[in-house]
Amino acid sequence: MARTALVTGGSRGIGAAISKALKAEGYQVAATYAGNDEKAKAFTDETGIKTYKWNVADYEESKAGIEAVEADLGPIDVIVANAGITRDAPFHKMTPEQWKEVVDTNLTGVFNTVHPVWPGMRDRGFGRIIVISSINGQKGQFGQVNYAATKAGDLGIVKSLAQEGAGKGITANAICPGYIATEMVMAVPEKVREKIISMIPAGRLGEPEEIARCVTFLASEDSQFINGSTISANGAQFFV
Ligand code: NDP
Repeated sequence: MARTALVTGGSRGIGAAISKALKAEGYQVAATYAGNDEKAKAFTDETGIKTYKWNVADYEESKAGIEAVEADLGPIDVIVANAGITRDAPFHKMTPEQWKEVVDTNLTGVFNTVHPVWPGMRDRGFGRIIVISSINGQKGQFGQVNYAATKAGDLGIVKSLAQEGAGKGITANAICPGYIATEMVMAVPEKVREKIISMIPAGRLGEPEEIARCVTFLASEDSQFINGSTISANGAQFFV
């Protein structure tokens, strides 16, 4: 029987490419989103992939949403924790609200997505957790104390889950994309974008499909011994 995959923030950007790639590999896919109904409807019309609306920052909403997905598609075998936001500001101007919103979505959101599914994965002896972190969680970034902290925290989550899940057939890995051509990056003023591209040895932004291909590999049976790892996909944008 086809495995079931849950992709949070799976209706647009990198998540949409991941949802489509998993569907193409034969998974039953549930793609979640936060509030952009128009984009979610257009995505379902285009792909036939069902979308579900809930806020990953809310535990009870996540639990109820996951129950709805499992009632529709069966037990979730693969989680792609991709939903994420930025609320950038230099630290001296960063508000407690900007800190909290990003932590609640990017870090607690991963807990809220994995925790309700984890006992079932342990019982069934199979699971794949893939968290979309960021190059800025590896190297830090001016104006992103909140975002970088959450993306670094995501690496701690997968390394720990890997150790707890390995004996139960569950793997947990992270992908750290560099700059990818999504709305998030294309919204940056062109001059800033050009400066960003000049720092990438590959001389271009990454494509969402390039991240999706990392996900389909990590989701597969073949990746069983890759556990607690971080895959950097950044066009050789190395850092110290
Ligand atoms: P987008 O802004 O294009 O899409 C974000 C998706 O997440 C949307 O589907 C959005 O739903 C959903 N989402 C946001 N907040 C919540 C929430 N609270 N609850 C549920 N869903 C939510 O993002 P990208 O595709 O650019 O980024 C995807 C991931 O990749 C993020 O974690 C990001 O940090 C990471 N990343 C991105 C990079 C890039 O260059 N783009 C680089 C490195 C990492 P809705 O449509 O309803 O708003």
